[in-house]
Amino acid sequence: MIAILEKTPLAPYLSVSEAQQRMLQSIRPVDETIIPLEQSHSRVISQDIRSQIDWPPFATSAMDGFAVQAEDILQAAPNSPVTLEVIADIQAGSTIYQRVLAGQAARIMTGAAVPAGADTVVPVEETNFTDRSPGARAPDSVQIFRVFNTGEYVRPRGQDLLSDQVVLSAGHRLRPQDAGLLAMLGIARVPVFRRPRVAIFSTGDELLAPDQPLSPGKIHDSNSYTLAAQLAKHDVEVFPLGVVPDNFNAIQQRLDWLQDHPVDLIVTTAGVSVGNFDYMRSVIEAQGKIEFWRVNMRPGKPVTFGSYRGIPIIGLPGNPVSAFVGCEVFVRPVISRLSGEAQATRRATRAELAEPIESDGRESYLRGILTFQRGKYLARLTGHQGSGNLFSLVQANALLIVPSGVKSLPAGAEVEAWWLEG
Ligand code: AMP
Ligand code: MG
Repeated sequence: MIAILEKTPLAPYLSVSEAQQRMLQSIRPVDETIIPLEQSHSRVISQDIRSQIDWPPFATSAMDGFAVQAEDILQAAPNSPVTLEVIADIQAGSTIYQRVLAGQAARIMTGAAVPAGADTVVPVEETNFTDRSPGARAPDSVQIFRVFNTGEYVRPRGQDLLSDQVVLSAGHRLRPQDAGLLAMLGIARVPVFRRPRVAIFSTGDELLAPDQPLSPGKIHDSNSYTLAAQLAKHDVEVFPLGVVPDNFNAIQQRLDWLQDHPVDLIVTTAGVSVGNFDYMRSVIEAQGKIEFWRVNMRPGKPVTFGSYRGIPIIGLPGNPVSAFVGCEVFVRPVISRLSGEAQATRRATRAELAEPIESDGRESYLRGILTFQRGKYLARLTGHQGSGNLFSLVQANALLIVPSGVKSLPAGAEVEAWWLEG
């Protein structure tokens, strides 16, 4: 019998998700370091953090009031209060070594350690003690007007967490409340991944710095500024290397300069398409390797990934919207991996199209405006979707994603949208 081999047609370009996977396979997190807690905001922790104490570390009063034995006040009622002898006055930060015995109470402040013998705190509002002035002496006795459950208004030791419990996992990016928790647990030095170092530069003979006057045929380099700002949001050290002309040797020299200034990632824009002066790929190939070139997406198709002298390099296309989208789609997950983050996060939502949209079958990232109306987000485009139209991106508050294979979507269809955060 003759086996007929089924021929699968060669996919012309990688899909976005294949390209992302190929990139991430070769990226390892940067190394670890230990830094003071004060400097750790928004850094990624490199090891699981375990509490070394129970929290609360001692039974704590949750109210200003009187620490008592609940059994003593089982008969308390508004018209027949129970009277207890007040034997001590405990402020937050201090403890007493006396036991509270039957028939006794200790005045106690919020956050103070509940004394031995007492099991319950009666808030001051539920007693006959009415002097609210700061510094008022504790009374010699106190009347209590109702019953309290044993343990009421006491935060028992270890109620929130126990010693040796993992409180934050490796790969977590620290938020303000995490800093507070570390401080609460007495962790003043924090193991983190160091910040990834990312070199960026723009290529193109037409590019001028923004402070140079325009001349015929020239434009200002905008990509360097967009990219630096996009990267800065992800807590990386950016090394802006400026503008390099469309010239093999010039590009190679700029890349080789990095030999003495080690970085974890190189991101370039332009010169990766099929133009006569698109040297980026040949420069990479001369001292490194191209992993892939071109992805089935719009905008941003000619994106290039490889390594140059062992450093991962992402060549984004030059059109300003392509460069921006390429950074969101590819550079961001790579940075997340370099940073040691366990999970890359992105603020996304579903939105309903307020108007029909056309695509060309590539996975498309369109500039849109989301408005919240009657319980859902409605999406509109911000003008023409040319990849050079940076202003359409400036007017947008989201990228709308049309999956590959889809050429048109009617009004009312749902799309995924990525928020363009401020
Ligand atoms: P390229 O990828 O070199 O074919 O460039 C595509 C388009 O993007 C051209 O119109 C370039 O002039 C433009 N472009 C390239 N680099 C930049 C940049 N850094 N800032 C603004 N526009 C750019
Ligand atoms: Mg060019």
